[in-house]
Amino acid sequence: MAGNIKAIKGTKDTLPSESYKLQYIEQAALDTAKAYGFHEMRTPVFEYTELFDRSVGETTDVVQKEMYTFNDKGDRSITLRPEGTAGAVRAFLEHGLFNEPLPQKVCYLTSCYRYEKPQAGRLREFHQFGIECFGAGSPVADAEIIALANSYFNFIGIEKLAVEINSIGCPECRKKYSEALKAYFEDRKSELCETCLSRLDRNPMRILDCKSPVCSEIASGAPVVLDYICDDCRDHFEKLKTYLDALNISYVVNPQIVRGLDYYTRTVFEFVSLDEKTKGLVLGGGGRYDGLIEELGGAAMPACGFAMGLERLLIAMEESGIPFPEAPKCNLSIVTAGENALLKALELSADLRSQGYSVNIDTVGRSIKAQMKFANKINSEFTVVIGDNELENGVAMLKCMDDGTQTEVSLDAFDEGFERAYMNRAVANFDSADFSALTQVDINNLLR
Ligand code: AMP
Repeated sequence: MAGNIKAIKGTKDTLPSESYKLQYIEQAALDTAKAYGFHEMRTPVFEYTELFDRSVGETTDVVQKEMYTFNDKGDRSITLRPEGTAGAVRAFLEHGLFNEPLPQKVCYLTSCYRYEKPQAGRLREFHQFGIECFGAGSPVADAEIIALANSYFNFIGIEKLAVEINSIGCPECRKKYSEALKAYFEDRKSELCETCLSRLDRNPMRILDCKSPVCSEIASGAPVVLDYICDDCRDHFEKLKTYLDALNISYVVNPQIVRGLDYYTRTVFEFVSLDEKTKGLVLGGGGRYDGLIEELGGAAMPACGFAMGLERLLIAMEESGIPFPEAPKCNLSIVTAGENALLKALELSADLRSQGYSVNIDTVGRSIKAQMKFANKINSEFTVVIGDNELENGVAMLKCMDDGTQTEVSLDAFDEGFERAYMNRAVANFDSADFSALTQVDINNLLR
């Protein structure tokens, strides 16, 4: 029965059997963001190409090689967003959020598009959770952003993780650093790939994130930007470290981090997996971008942010065996025999669903036996059979599928009877639970 049109390479379907995992990590991200005062913003999936050229930067891999860019029917150049910050800054400016109390703190869950070579943890359509803090120049803002990301990973249960930080200075430091890089790469010019050769004059720092093995081998011996930063930038970096210490967040300084996008200034950081199976996988990263708001037409205003990939997080969780909450269950299947029973089932199911229970009724005209089988397959917690006898006597037997116990319930007060049985089962499960075996996820769920 399978169709012959397949999903596009580098994209991924999320099926109902998996989607509850994404819902869990997304909700946890929004909850963590809320605790730090970040509120959700939604922006369009496509923007004018110019927005990314000017923010991400014309000499970056993302803009030069990876963007999904096309002309629309009005012959305007449009790009599917490769990341979330540029759109968030555009919206911040377009809606005058700079007139609201500052800093403005926003978060988002978005799909992103990059034409990269698909592999584990690298997709062409992927999803990011991101946060942006507009209008805060103090390193406390950087520390809070790192703390938010860190507490999110803790909450989810990712323990083997390194927080790597660096400073890439301001445009003034960058000038000196670019000169040093130019001198270094000039000597090995003949070995560089064509793209990097074109970057040598325009933006030598971008050579550092070239994925070609030869260029990255050359780049590994290049001067590091931390040696070129000015006193103000150094002071900012030292204060960030003090605040991270105060927050009890362990970090390592990694002078090699430059991040692949042009808009970063001063602080850059990454969360890197230390788990055996996913060692080196960058789960998220971010930094400060003090010049971007002005670059996009606003007033000079500092800002910083963080983004992480949801697919990579799922990989890290699965590889480390971090449990997810249970998949949502069907609380009750109403098995019916005959038209009158079906009418009753419609009434009862509407009632219970409005009270928050998940209820299944037969919508394909199956026999009682087949309905029972289906109820079993979808793991219904309870079943009840309604036929002519039950309708005549006004009572039905509610069966708990865990232990097979049956309770007589009046059809006139079915919701009360069901609730009682449901609660009794919950209490029995609680009494027999082994709390010493609670996982972090169980505890998270109890606390929610
Ligand atoms: P970036 O915007 O490049 O700093 O990426 C931020 C995060 O998004 C990364 O740490 C990854 O978790 C995720 N990410 C970036 N590119 C991809 C991709 N092609 N596929 C899956 N996740 C990605």
